[in-house]
Amino acid sequence: MDRLTVEQIRQMLMKVTQIIIDNEPYLTEIDTVIGDGDHGTGMKRGFTALGEMLEGEKFSSIWELMRRAGMELVKTMGGASGVLFSTLLIGGLDSVKDAEYMDVYNMADYFCGGIEAVMRRGGASPGQKTMVDALVPAAVAFRAAKAEGKTLSEGMSQVYEAACKGVEATRAMQSRIGRSKNFREKTVGLPDPGAVSVSLVFGAMNDFIHG
Ligand code: ADP
Ligand code: MG
Repeated sequence: MDRLTVEQIRQMLMKVTQIIIDNEPYLTEIDTVIGDGDHGTGMKRGFTALGEMLEGEKFSSIWELMRRAGMELVKTMGGASGVLFSTLLIGGLDSVKDAEYMDVYNMADYFCGGIEAVMRRGGASPGQKTMVDALVPAAVAFRAAKAEGKTLSEGMSQVYEAACKGVEATRAMQSRIGRSKNFREKTVGLPDPGAVSVSLVFGAMNDFIHG
């Protein structure tokens, strides 16, 4: 699959919602040790609502689909991550304004725009043990895939791999921002929950694109 129609993107997002819901226990487990414990339930609530919104719905454009998905998350999730995941989906919308398909080029622009918006909104920089530590390597991989003219499948594999490496790197970090910074040394050893969620999203997209 090297370019996705609006209907295929809807199906891909349905897959993302399922993976997030399935991983709620793990997200809760890590956020209970290094945060205030609500990340898993927040993600599950938001992505359940997103799944219900997507179910059986027809969208007139990719722009409309992604905009409504982002709105649904901020409406239902709550917490810092609700705003930030919504921002991830909405921040790069200009890149798909008149797009009939999503390919490696506009998907790279779309997510890089979203990632920059997350960093502006949340104010976190790499190394502070947040979702940014998975998003920035993903953005680098998206840009490389675009520059090297990779197929969407090749590009998505590289993005997923980069996000997973970013998640692994958060294990050694001490939280410097958000609620979990109060947990200081206790946060070392486990990955950042928000970064794990980012890798789950890209992992589900990668699975879908590889059919
Ligand atoms: P809250 O922090 O409001 O309880 P969640 O528990 O749902 O929200 O999400 C926590 C995750 O959100 C963290 O693991 C981290 O990845 C991410 N996060 C929190 N604050 C920020 C921020 N300012 N910038 C980027 N990511 C952040
Ligand atoms: Mg929390």
